[in-house]
Amino acid sequence: MKRINNYINGSLNSISQKELSVEDPSKGEEIAKVVLSSVDDFNKAILSSKKSQISWSNTTPLKRSRILSNYKTLIEKNIDELASIVSQEHGKTLADAKGSVTRGLEVVEFACGIPHLLKGEFSQNVGTNIDSWSIRQPLGVCAGITPFNFPAMVPMWMFPIAIACGNSFILKPSEKDPSCSVRLAELFTEAGLPDGVFNVIHGDKEVVDLILNSDDISSVSFVGSTPVAKYIYETSAKNGKRVQALGGAKNHLVVMPDANLNQAVDGIIGAGYGSAGERCMAISVAVAVGDIADELVNKIHLEAQKLKVAPWTDKNSDMGPVISKEHKDKIENYILTGVNEGAKLLEDGRNYKIQGYENGYFIGPTLFDNVTKDMTIYKEEIFGPVVSVVRVKNYDDALKLVNEHAFGNGTSIYTSDGEISRHFTTHSKIGMVGVNVPIPVPMAFHSFGGWKQSLFGDHSVHGMEGIHFYTKLKTVTSRWPKSIQLGPEFVLPTN
Ligand code: NAD
Repeated sequence: MKRINNYINGSLNSISQKELSVEDPSKGEEIAKVVLSSVDDFNKAILSSKKSQISWSNTTPLKRSRILSNYKTLIEKNIDELASIVSQEHGKTLADAKGSVTRGLEVVEFACGIPHLLKGEFSQNVGTNIDSWSIRQPLGVCAGITPFNFPAMVPMWMFPIAIACGNSFILKPSEKDPSCSVRLAELFTEAGLPDGVFNVIHGDKEVVDLILNSDDISSVSFVGSTPVAKYIYETSAKNGKRVQALGGAKNHLVVMPDANLNQAVDGIIGAGYGSAGERCMAISVAVAVGDIADELVNKIHLEAQKLKVAPWTDKNSDMGPVISKEHKDKIENYILTGVNEGAKLLEDGRNYKIQGYENGYFIGPTLFDNVTKDMTIYKEEIFGPVVSVVRVKNYDDALKLVNEHAFGNGTSIYTSDGEISRHFTTHSKIGMVGVNVPIPVPMAFHSFGGWKQSLFGDHSVHGMEGIHFYTKLKTVTSRWPKSIQLGPEFVLPTN
């Protein structure tokens, strides 16, 4: 049985003998064991991170950028391998996995510009013969804790920027699909990154708590479910760490009566069922405005029935299984609750069986109509291939629905009315907003992050928010008084 080890100080090694199963969700079979790290493993990672960070922070940004550039080339060269590692342990289709690696790669491309991105500000003569400048310096050892649903992209939102800024980085990937992180670390070493600047340590809550309570770690970046995000935020803040903790989502796509209906339906189908709904930017609520509802629901239903649910090895698959038996049961329970609470189940994905993959964790596309805002399936994040249609009378009701939801990650509106679209982008209380775009995921040079229960902390990830999160601001005020005798000053200088 393959053993997935920690990657510390430039090589694969683990002290702990404790392990956890890693499964192929398409087959429901164990395919590897991942180490559950001990305190000794953690201390080893800390030691290596602290030591390497000192010389790494003294390496010029241009040299760091060249290593990142080598890394970009290596990821491009190995993208097929990285995508199959993601698909095998996560279950998503190969094309989707490849797309997600590419979105991570774009963050590496952004980080290659680090000499420019770290440029500070300078003012000559802030006072007579006094100059002042601001610089951004690295934090030290940064940590990242990531979810199962994007085993390449989400870690890559974090570590390329943290490292480009002169920090070292400890990644604690999801224990459900941990192999991709290790391969990403190996490739970084191959690109020329000094040993210890990027360490990967496996485990679950036990290791997370070591990270949160370590005096040697300056910052924590977290992406995962809202209850854990809240815990990470509170504990890190209590321990004086800089923290960004991204949580769950319930993204609404509003369809106005003047929308291009076919485009809206394509948007809902792709963003609702793609990756089996296991995306934080998945559309889980379609808001049908006014008299478009019947036609919209019929079309979504028709298209949902055409989707091919199959393992990632099938090139024609539109969506794969969900991550685990436990998660499958949880989603199926939500479907049952939806029925019990009075929603109209138009398409039922429960008990979905694929020949040869009877033990896989598959759920077919599921569609509910007449969902109301008091229902559990509306309020809570399901994180599966379940789309709920809520019918509202007009645009104002749609906007109210979006804004009153506890989550605020993403939303989208389909309309041909520029005024409505402008009103929506201005007044929606959501972090990422799309107009006629179903999944408005910002590019690497912008920043990604939600509002409300979808993000705890002040900074989104990547883009300039990432640069600011992984650096401390320092402002220097300097005078070189060679020949004048200044004498003591008892008032604050004003010029
Ligand atoms: P999760 O919260 O269960 O796990 C995330 C990470 O936290 C993992 O590394 C896990 O080992 C660790 N963890 C789990 N329970 C913990 C605990 N009690 N204490 C400390 N650490 C713990 O999330 P998941 O199931 O892996 O991922 C799915 C969730 O992530 C969904 O809610 C999804 O919306 C969210 N997500 C959000 C974004 C975003 O950008 N907002 C992106 C991707 C995923």
